[in-house]
Amino acid sequence: MVKSKDFKGNKGRSRRVQCDSCGRLVPEEKAIKTEKFSLPIDKYLWEELQRNGTQIHISSQFIYFCFSCARHRKILKQ
Ligand SMILES: [Zn+2]
Repeated sequence: MVKSKDFKGNKGRSRRVQCDSCGRLVPEEKAIKTEKFSLPIDKYLWEELQRNGTQIHISSQFIYFCFSCARHRKILKQ
C-alpha cells in the first residue's frame, strides 16, 4: 500500500535560487537552469588556435533564470 505522503508533501521547502537576470528568488525546481560558457581569451583568437590544434580549457558555470526571464530571452522552446 502506498501512502499519500509519497505523492506530495514529502519534499518540504525546496532550495531557492536567484535569477541571474532580474534577481528574483525562485524555487530550484521552477527555475530554468542553463550552462554558461566563458572563454578566457578572445573568440576569434580561440577559433584560430583551435584550427591549429591547441586545446584551451573552457570554464562553465550553471546559471538560473526565473520563468519570465527565460521566456523573454527565448531559452524556453515552445
Ligand atoms: Zn528573472
